[in-house]
Amino acid sequence: MGNDENELRRHIYANSTDRHVIRKLLQKIFLPCSCKETCPKHEVAFSIEETVRALDIPEENISTLLCYLELHAKKYIELLSPAYTVCKVISYGGPMQIRKAAKECPPLAMALALQKNQNENDQNVLEFAIVDIAAAIGWDSGICKHKLKNLEWTTVSGQPKRSTLNVSFSNLGFRLLAPGNLSDDQLDEALDSLYEHVVNQEKMALLQLRAVHQTLVDVAAPSYKSCLQQESTESGVKLKVKIREYFESPNPLDSITLTENKIVDEDQLVNDIRGLISTYRDNNFTGKAVARIFHGIMSPNYPAVIWGRCKYWRSHINVDFHTICKIATREILNFR
Ligand SMILES: [Zn+2]
Repeated sequence: MGNDENELRRHIYANSTDRHVIRKLLQKIFLPCSCKETCPKHEVAFSIEETVRALDIPEENISTLLCYLELHAKKYIELLSPAYTVCKVISYGGPMQIRKAAKECPPLAMALALQKNQNENDQNVLEFAIVDIAAAIGWDSGICKHKLKNLEWTTVSGQPKRSTLNVSFSNLGFRLLAPGNLSDDQLDEALDSLYEHVVNQEKMALLQLRAVHQTLVDVAAPSYKSCLQQESTESGVKLKVKIREYFESPNPLDSITLTENKIVDEDQLVNDIRGLISTYRDNNFTGKAVARIFHGIMSPNYPAVIWGRCKYWRSHINVDFHTICKIATREILNFR
């Protein structure tokens, strides 16, 4: 019975997020600005794909964290629809065409001014983070994109004609409005409240799972044969009563307690952690990544199609997830 519950717990742990991961996310959101006292909030965007890889959590989970921040009593951010974050301008008429176009197009002028290592790049191609440029000149990124896209056209004797410039957008990103002048205390508070939310969600999900599990164990028959022989109405009535009790109670989860899985064999666990990290030396494992592998939980950087073949996949499914995290983190530090 306990194994079924462990099996389902995996789905809950798949959504748990570490403090340091949340901190990394906040560093992408709250970029320092030069506003004095009040900040009107600036448009910020960051690549969905790169963020998923850097944080090793799925896109939906990042969206959820962003929603928590928006719904927070302090309304830290305002979410906007996702948008392309990179603009690429290619000139088929030489680098001068880009410079000429910049005179009429402030976002392009700013992108040129901020361009680094100008000599090393192909002078016919200019690539830049469009939302950053928009924020730098204080324009809406949509307007900037419109202006830039218009560079593909010129007017020759009253007729529209294609110019020698090609403008394209790529790399879809999360986009939001965020203040840039939060104090360290405010940043800590945002981090704490987000983390607390994640921990509470996880705890609640585990309690709910336990409640369902306990209820089903209470009414379950030892085998299907006994269901065939006797009337099962008694169990049915019992189950209905329990479900009604659950939904009518103001705090149905208060009476539920979580029992931690005891470590069966810590030596074996430590051996396997060491085995895993020395077998895959190129991987920068975190304690959480190890725990996920041992529970058979996939993540963006550790997909099941690949890691499912590793002999450690699901190898410690009966050991408490957070215990593995803790021990693995310790072993990884010792290993370095
Ligand atoms: Zn500001």
